[in-house]
Amino acid sequence: MRHFKIKSNKNLFMSNIEIFTQLATYEHEQIVFCNDNATGLRAIIAIHNTVLGPGLGGTRIWNYQNEAEAINDVMRLSRGMTYKAAISGLNLGGAKAVIIGDSSKIKTEALMRKFGRFVKNLNGKYITAEDVNTTTKDMEYVNMETNHVVGLPESMGGGGDPSPVTSYGVYMGMKACAKSVFGSDSLSGKKIAVQGTGKVGGHLLDFLHKEGATLFISDINEDALKHYAGTLGATVVTGDEIYGLDVDIFAPCALGAILNDTNIAKLKCSIVAGAANNQLADETIHGPLLMNKGITYAPDFLINAGGLINVYQEHIGYNRETAYRKAEHIFDVTSEIIKVSANEKIYTQKAAMNLAEKRISDILNVRATY
Ligand code: NAD
Repeated sequence: MRHFKIKSNKNLFMSNIEIFTQLATYEHEQIVFCNDNATGLRAIIAIHNTVLGPGLGGTRIWNYQNEAEAINDVMRLSRGMTYKAAISGLNLGGAKAVIIGDSSKIKTEALMRKFGRFVKNLNGKYITAEDVNTTTKDMEYVNMETNHVVGLPESMGGGGDPSPVTSYGVYMGMKACAKSVFGSDSLSGKKIAVQGTGKVGGHLLDFLHKEGATLFISDINEDALKHYAGTLGATVVTGDEIYGLDVDIFAPCALGAILNDTNIAKLKCSIVAGAANNQLADETIHGPLLMNKGITYAPDFLINAGGLINVYQEHIGYNRETAYRKAEHIFDVTSEIIKVSANEKIYTQKAAMNLAEKRISDILNVRATY
């Protein structure tokens, strides 16, 4: 019996395009290149692992510098989706798609529908959704060609914007960290810094304000800052100032890779718990660095899974209450991960990855017989 184990992502970047070597190294199942001269579509669909179910992951449009960069990104992102689905207890595998080009120039109805045809041809092994530079409207076009798409508007029977559920999951993960670190899950009176006041950060601020937290915010969008300073009394900080604030909790809800040597050195908080994807610049270096500094880190792919939970509900029959109930479970899983991390003296991201891999191995075994 093959044991399911995914290796570290630290060498995932490809300088040469050796696709089969990369597929084998990270155990990707399939990679599909989609070309259409008429619409200018150049897309790559990467299916990482479908032990638990069909691979679900959004479609990103990005103006990659070269093809190697696009392949690297789609492989890294699809692998991340495998972990996110597995740890969230969903019967989903990991996959992702990228469309190469400047979205403001290439995106048309025809291009999105052509992409939908390629998704259709995978017969449900891949389910797509919106991501960076794709919208609900784009998914409506994809849906004209295939049913294997989620993240549709509520008017079309979909779950609408998943961000509120993502925020709720982050809030639950944050409370689990607080319980472990401060002895109570109450965030009342806690000083919390939120980087990024967009869709997820904004809803998170509402939850935190209702609970009586003292809020600090940063963003590059002045209007958003003004809004939350005015409505929630949040204190606005500029640029990198947010890392060195004397707060209890830091919630990164904007950018990836911000937990690097420089920023971690500045942190004075006890907890890092936020929505941004891939917060650790290098998980094998910065996961242990946070642990050694005595900071409890809530693994990003665990606590930001509310959006995936929401679209999974859409896949099996949408019910908003069930989506929130499942997102609430992030509290228990985060608590468990913190315990395992302490008992086994491993950083929390590693503990979460181990748990995700174990679930995949266990289910692989369940499915070994007819
Ligand atoms: P968003 O685009 O609505 O918000 C991001 C915010 O970050 C914007 O207000 C933007 O102005 C701000 N920002 C950009 N650069 C910044 C900087 N240098 N400093 C401070 N703020 C900056 O995106 P979102 O949907 O709220 O997602 C936030 C993060 O959470 C992203 O990393 C995303 O990948 C991740 N995420 C989102 C979801 C979801 O359901 N939307 C699910 C999982 C993960």
